[in-house]
Amino acid sequence: MSILELTATELAGQVQSGSLDPESALDAYFGEIQKSESHLKAFLLLMRESAYAQARSLRAKRAEGRTLGRLAGVPMAVKDNLLIEGFPVTCGSRILQGYRSSYTATVVERLIREDAIVIGKTNLDEFAMGSSTENSAFQITRNPWDLERVPGGSSGGSAAAVAGSMALAALGSDTGGSIRQPAGLCGLVGFKPTYGFVSRYGLVAFASRLDQGGPLARTAADAALVFGVIAGHDPKDSTSLVSSNEMNAHGLELPKDLNNVVVGVPKEFADASGVDPEVTQALEKTLEVFRSRGARVRSVTLPHVKFALAAYYVLAPSEASANLARFDGVRYGNRASERESARAADADSGEGELIGLYKRSRTEGFGREVQRRILIGTFALSQGYYEAYYGKAQRARGLIVQDFEKAFGECQILLAPTAPTPAFKVGEKTDDPVAMYLSDVFTIPVNIAGIPAVSFPCGFSRAGLPIGAQLMGPKGSDRRLLALAQFFEEATEKAFIRRPSMGKAKKATEARE
Ligand code: GLN
Repeated sequence: MSILELTATELAGQVQSGSLDPESALDAYFGEIQKSESHLKAFLLLMRESAYAQARSLRAKRAEGRTLGRLAGVPMAVKDNLLIEGFPVTCGSRILQGYRSSYTATVVERLIREDAIVIGKTNLDEFAMGSSTENSAFQITRNPWDLERVPGGSSGGSAAAVAGSMALAALGSDTGGSIRQPAGLCGLVGFKPTYGFVSRYGLVAFASRLDQGGPLARTAADAALVFGVIAGHDPKDSTSLVSSNEMNAHGLELPKDLNNVVVGVPKEFADASGVDPEVTQALEKTLEVFRSRGARVRSVTLPHVKFALAAYYVLAPSEASANLARFDGVRYGNRASERESARAADADSGEGELIGLYKRSRTEGFGREVQRRILIGTFALSQGYYEAYYGKAQRARGLIVQDFEKAFGECQILLAPTAPTPAFKVGEKTDDPVAMYLSDVFTIPVNIAGIPAVSFPCGFSRAGLPIGAQLMGPKGSDRRLLALAQFFEEATEKAFIRRPSMGKAKKATEARE
């Protein structure tokens, strides 16, 4: 079996036992990067040198007879909104150009502590705002299944890296769907944990009350392995839950059958408009698999979920406008020239040069989507409008939380599509922000409610594009959701765990060019 075909669990096992040299594993993955990265553009930074240094130190550690960690030698990609000390972090934005991280995110530290090897930082929509990775200030990442299509977003670089066999697993962040939607569009497993289970320390904040880091991987077992490593209480994050320590466990407990499982299908999702019929069909087949293994299926209602998208686009921009205030041209990254700053100050009489510097640096540094969110957020939070927007969105959040709680009284898990359509074309939605926002109708409610959800591959469109399904559960059901995703994989004999044929994708683009 080629190194690239090993799962993270298998690869780590072989490195631990000494039957696989961690450098050979890196050679295999950097070999794929050499072949495919110029087409996929998944990485913003490759960390070849530090990766090989770490591989060598793993080898030495083993030679000394010390036990290697749970992710021994696993080549991993990390979304470029997570800090790694000494390395640049861009968040896909020009405003951070030249900035280097002064410390390491807890989740990355935990990967390294378990001997994973970080091979690079991946592309993302600027500050994780987007659903296609087209909002990156630097490059457009392509979907390995079809190079004319987007990988989803905002963790599109992480998804393309794993789907394109350039990393064995990756970290992403999910504020409204940014792990699950790209996982769905690239045929991977993507997991958004219960809010508070994974530390946000060192994850550049977008909307702090919604952000949560998590894994993208090829299989549910691999996602669970990474989740087990990164989860757990962190005193450096004040919203980190103490109860999350029990999530830091080994392996998953797979049910033998689903005889005691009730799967709820939210009526509002089933009736949603704009869902591709191929997605609906794949979902029906998925339900059939659950049913054939003993699960009962029932329709449930989430009456306020129709407000989730609207509430999100008040809550998330509001928090973002506050979080992004720190990028002022003084403390981090890009600073406008004195001439530009003076000119900006002049244009608005009465303001000093400092205000001019802020304005000019932020105008130069932030892209259109980020500016749009800052404007919306600042407006929603302004005196006189606070109640009408932020206050109301908070109330909608409360109602959505209650809807889910009620639904979980009638069923243990909910099934829905991850995204309304398979991967769309590059450029298809860039001029229509609302169409882009709608890619997340099924994922956003989960962040609003703070519950966990896993996206897993459940089918393919006729054009050969992956389709993802999403399982949601109550707070704390994280490992159960991953176990059920693995159960589905086994029940379907891993029929949907496939790799794109990059050769075919490349030829198809070349023919078109
Ligand atoms: N696509 C959503 C947005 O643009 C969610 C992004 C995310 O989860 N980071 O805000």
